[in-house]
Amino acid sequence: MKLETMAVHAGRQPDPASGAVTPNITPSTTFERAEDGSYPRGHVYTRDSNPTRAALETALAALEGAGDTQACRGLAFASGQAATSAVLHTLAAGDHVILPDDLYHGTRHLAGGLLARWGLRADFVDMRDPANVAAALRPETRLVWVETPSNPLLKVADIAAIAGIAHSAGARCAVDNTWATPVLQRPFAHGADIVMHSTTKYIGGHSDVLGGALIVRADDDALYARLREAQLLAGGVPSPFDCWLLLRSLATLPLRVRAQSASAAQIAAYLAAHPAVECVHYPGLATHPGHAVAAQQMNAGGSGYGGMLSVQVRGGQADALAVAARVRLFTRATSLGAVESLIEHRASIEGPGSATPPNLLRVSVGLEHVEDLLADLSGALA
Ligand SMILES: *Cc1c(COP(=O)(O)O)cnc(C)c1O
Repeated sequence: MKLETMAVHAGRQPDPASGAVTPNITPSTTFERAEDGSYPRGHVYTRDSNPTRAALETALAALEGAGDTQACRGLAFASGQAATSAVLHTLAAGDHVILPDDLYHGTRHLAGGLLARWGLRADFVDMRDPANVAAALRPETRLVWVETPSNPLLKVADIAAIAGIAHSAGARCAVDNTWATPVLQRPFAHGADIVMHSTTKYIGGHSDVLGGALIVRADDDALYARLREAQLLAGGVPSPFDCWLLLRSLATLPLRVRAQSASAAQIAAYLAAHPAVECVHYPGLATHPGHAVAAQQMNAGGSGYGGMLSVQVRGGQADALAVAARVRLFTRATSLGAVESLIEHRASIEGPGSATPPNLLRVSVGLEHVEDLLADLSGALA
C-alpha cells in the first residue's frame, strides 16, 4: 500500500459491534477480566494500553515503516517531550549521547540539563558534517540523536552516514522526524533505529492536540521493551480522545504536507530575492548547503522539502520584531505544522543562552492560498 492509502486505513476498520465507520473512542481506564482471571481482549489498564491508543500506534508504525521491508511498532505519548524522555530513560547514568548543536530547545534542556543531573553525558555537535559525530564518539556513547531539518536553522544531517557512525560504535541512532514527517522522510530507510515525533505538529496539524510518538523496528525487541517500560512506568501517555484526534488527522497528513511544502518553496524563493532579507534557511533552495542531501533524503518522492523555513531580516532583533508586528494573516505564535500559518521570533522564546540569531523569524506555512501569504509578507517587509 502507498502512504496515502495507509494514512486513511492503517489502524482503522469498521467497529464489529455497531458497524461504525469512524473509530470509536474508548475512554475506559480499566478492562474486564474473564472468569479465569485472564484478559482475553488484551487490555488491562489504560496507562498500559488502550484500544484507541493502540489504533494510533498501529497507524504511526505503518506510516514510518512504509516502503521498508521490516514492520515497525509505535508508542504514543502525551507530548513530544514525553517521547524524547522515554528514549533518554532507556540509558543509564554515565552513558553518553551525541545531539545536534541546532535542535529543538526542549530536547537540549532535557538531555543537557534535567537528565545531566541524573548522570547522562551529552555533547552537541554540528551534524551537517558527519565527521563531527565520529569525532565526538566515546566508549560510553550509546545514542546519537539526529534532528533534520533542525530547529530553527534547518541544518540538514545525513541520516545514513550518521546512523552508520553510531552503529560502528555500538550506539543507536534516533531521528526526530517532526518537521519532515513520514511523508517526506522515512529514517528507517536510512538506517535509523528510533523515529520520534512531536505529534503536536504536522501529524496533529490543527493546533488542538499535544502528543508525541516513538516508532521502532518490530525486530528490535530489547529496545521496544525498554521504551514500553518507560511509557508504562513514567506514565506520559496520551488520552484516548487525543489519540482519536491524531488518528483523524493522519488521514490528511500527506495532502497537507505536500501543499504546505509547495507553498513554503514559493515563499522561500520570494524571500531569498527580497532586498530586506539577509538570508533564508530552506533546504529546498538550491543555495542551501544541505540541498543535495535533502534532495535524496526528503524529496526523493517529489513531495517537497517541508513547510518550515527561517528568515533572517536585514538589521537586528528590532527589525525582525517589526516585521513580525506588521503581518496581518500570519499569526505571531510558537509551534508549527498546522493549517494556519505562524511566524515567530525564535530567539525570544528559546530564552537566555539561545544561539539563534536575533534577526531570525521562523515561519510555519499553513494551508492558506500562497498568494495571500506572499502579499502579507510583502506588506510586512515593505
Ligand atoms: C515541538 C517539538 C518537540 C517537542 O514536542 P512537544 O509536543 O511540544 O512536547 C520536539 N521536537 C521538535 C522538532 C519539535 O518541533
